[in-house]
Amino acid sequence: MAQTPMMQQYLQIKANYKDAFLFFRLGDFYEMFYEDAIKASKELEITLTGRGQGEERIPMCGVPHHSAENYITRLIEKGYKIAVCEQVEDPKMVKGVVKREVTKVLTPGTLMNSKLLPEKENNYLLAFSCEGENAYGIARCDLSTGETDVTLLTGDMDDLLQEILAGNAKEVIAPDDIELALKEKLETHPSFIVTVQSDESELKEYEGLICHIQQPALKQAYNRMLHYLIETQKQSLRHLQKAVFYPSDSFLKMDVHAKRNLELVETLRDKKKSGSLLSIIDQTVTSMGGRLLRQWLDRPLVKEEAIVNRQAIIEQFLEQYFERETLRDTLKEVYDIERLAARIAYGSVNARELAQLKRSLSKLPEITAHLAQLGLQNHWLKELSPFKELVVMLGESLVEDPPISVTDGGLIVDGYNKELDTYRDASRNGKQWIAELERSERESTGIRSLKVGYNKVFGYYIEVSRANTHLLPEGRYERKQTLANAERYITPELKEKEALILEADEKLSELEYELFVRIRSQVEKFVPSLQLLAGEISEMDVLAGFAAVAEQNLYVKPTLTNSRDVAIKGGRHPVVETVIKRGSYVQNEINLTDDRDMLLITGPNMGGKSTYMRQLALTVVLTQIGSFVPADEATLPIFDKIFTRIGAADDLASGQSTFMVEMLETKDALTKATPHSLILLDEIGRGTSTYDGMALAQAIIEYIYKSIGAKTLFSTHYHELTTLAETIPNLRNVHVSAAEENGTVVFLHKVIEGAADRSYGVYVAELAGLPRNVTTRAEQLLKTLETSHGNRDLPTTQMDDRELGVEEVAVTITEEPQQLSLFEPEVEKQKEKELNRKEKELLTKIVETDLLHLTPFQALEKIDQWQKQLKRK
Ligand code: ADP
Ligand code: MG
Repeated sequence: MAQTPMMQQYLQIKANYKDAFLFFRLGDFYEMFYEDAIKASKELEITLTGRGQGEERIPMCGVPHHSAENYITRLIEKGYKIAVCEQVEDPKMVKGVVKREVTKVLTPGTLMNSKLLPEKENNYLLAFSCEGENAYGIARCDLSTGETDVTLLTGDMDDLLQEILAGNAKEVIAPDDIELALKEKLETHPSFIVTVQSDESELKEYEGLICHIQQPALKQAYNRMLHYLIETQKQSLRHLQKAVFYPSDSFLKMDVHAKRNLELVETLRDKKKSGSLLSIIDQTVTSMGGRLLRQWLDRPLVKEEAIVNRQAIIEQFLEQYFERETLRDTLKEVYDIERLAARIAYGSVNARELAQLKRSLSKLPEITAHLAQLGLQNHWLKELSPFKELVVMLGESLVEDPPISVTDGGLIVDGYNKELDTYRDASRNGKQWIAELERSERESTGIRSLKVGYNKVFGYYIEVSRANTHLLPEGRYERKQTLANAERYITPELKEKEALILEADEKLSELEYELFVRIRSQVEKFVPSLQLLAGEISEMDVLAGFAAVAEQNLYVKPTLTNSRDVAIKGGRHPVVETVIKRGSYVQNEINLTDDRDMLLITGPNMGGKSTYMRQLALTVVLTQIGSFVPADEATLPIFDKIFTRIGAADDLASGQSTFMVEMLETKDALTKATPHSLILLDEIGRGTSTYDGMALAQAIIEYIYKSIGAKTLFSTHYHELTTLAETIPNLRNVHVSAAEENGTVVFLHKVIEGAADRSYGVYVAELAGLPRNVTTRAEQLLKTLETSHGNRDLPTTQMDDRELGVEEVAVTITEEPQQLSLFEPEVEKQKEKELNRKEKELLTKIVETDLLHLTPFQALEKIDQWQKQLKRK
């Protein structure tokens, strides 16, 4: 089919941007065609039209260019890319098709200035390259701040996926030669989008950012990322900061499960910040500080010196309440210098933002004065001269409160530029002349209601009400517009002046824009100093915030120990203690030593087991980000990794069943933990049958004892496991206590030594408001069970020798679960009713279904099929 030249141009350009919506500029609209149009009309709920006739009709839809940003934002939010194709020639000057080019590709991982950029969060793009079979070089960048880092990951595909998820990347750039399985895994993951970028060659211009790093995999990943950034941004990226190298053992490792389970930055259930650890400890007052705190939580420290340094600063902050709070009040007035600096280098900063920068910088002397009072002058802000220079420069050039638009004038102060002043005089004089005209016209015509006005279409005019038009002398006024009650006129001299004024105004805004761009590029040389400054202010903000948190919530400074012992007195869960009634939190001790490094926690549901376990993990995280901790006294070693198995949230998105996720998390702990790690296993084995669960739980405990030796907290509702303490020397039983008062149970939340005697499950059911009939019946059944079963302990093997092989300690379960009479005679009868053939078939199918290899969705489909079959019968 013959295409018009414009459509040919479209198709040519589109061929290079297959994975993006091509916003094709046509006059005042961005148009989309073909598939793009069909998809965009659905996603954006805009009307699908067409171009051409009959069979050759091309699907098309468009958005006005002035409101395009909104539509673009919505598409990016849904995880799409948008290639913006502009007319790069003035259509008035060319014959035929205007030249068009893609000027920018907007993508979720490369936001510079968007409503989607959260103030207190980074927005990451991640690129990787493979090194051999089981290692990856990983580079990460937040384009909006210019921060970049690189790290080496040893591990398999799943580890890479976890790293991507843990790093919260919105977009992933992959090499083109990755394994198919990995490719598929990445591409089908809903949390990020993936682009293949094969070019990983050196880029001379940016060599300085990565020259301190030698490892080829890291360099490749970094360069791959740069190529992608340049291809999408289509401009040089002078604000990128030197790559920071994080060796993987330079921070406390937590995989994505641990981070989620511990609810560090958001809650498991509804993904809200409120209710997370971050929500408690984030008392930062600047956006930069907010982002740095998230980074610290992401990578807690493992070097004692660095932790102790942070603690020392917090102590200083705690000593002087008044000075600290005044400092924090001043910091509140500091804008996001880091993102402003990025936008300066990127050339997208506007005058209002530069004025914000100036105001922020002029706070520096005040801030240094507060720091001196706090005795912290040696830590930050030692070199202020560049900022003084910048404040003066901006003060001499930009007005106090400039408009957002940089093309409509009103940016530059009088006296900054002679030529500008001349135009301004002309414009002001002209306007003065027009004001004068109104007076003189009124006088000469005698019409008191006559007025001079302006609108965009007709320019300046003289307006006279209909009743007075007869008073106007003949010939002097030319009628231009008729309104309901008035006529509008122009005169030759009015038009002459108008031309002068408009010309001056136009020149004025052009010149102002030119001057502004010049100022902006002069500011550019300050970008590196501004980035350093941003780092210092963020740090002071986070640490001052930690002091405020410690003060408000009565935290103490944890002592670091070189032994592996944990000793916490009066420990609390930082989040739970704030959501329950003040003062009602029951404080608990945690003591772990080399001959007591595993605790088996039993006790009633709702008794506080999970809380107790998380309490320790969160105290460790708080300690290692340098913060004080919720306790009366705390001594802790530095941990290298934390593993968790907590909660039972189904990872539906990645198509894994609860039990599978549980086992994956456990696998990670068992294969990667060291004697310096912390492992939390909460209610392990719950997702499978009782005996399966108990057997696995026991085998896991034995393995950790024998082959890892990590500090481990282990909660279970299988009382049978408490006898393990008799055979594993380093395992101790503790339990959360509960008391019975007048037939109801009271949870004391106190963790005490020894095993719990019962689980109070029925009471919890009662508390939850289950129908009375159910709970009394359960009570009855429980009694029967207890008498008929007696003690159902698992058989155990003596374990007094760490040299024992795993196989040797594996348990065999010989006890057959007895068939209980669970049903009343009525129900029994019903159950015995003959099953028809179809039902029998179905039952076999259900029994034979392999759950481990089903995604939840496939499982739903199956259930749906079965239901349909049953209903059809
Ligand atoms: P379990 O894991 O034993 O079922 P949880 O740890 O989930 O119990 O605790 C249940 C609830 O009990 C928590 O949501 C919290 O409100 C309360 N709780 C737990 N520990 C304490 C404590 N030490 N002091 C006060 N309340 C607590
Ligand atoms: Mg629990």
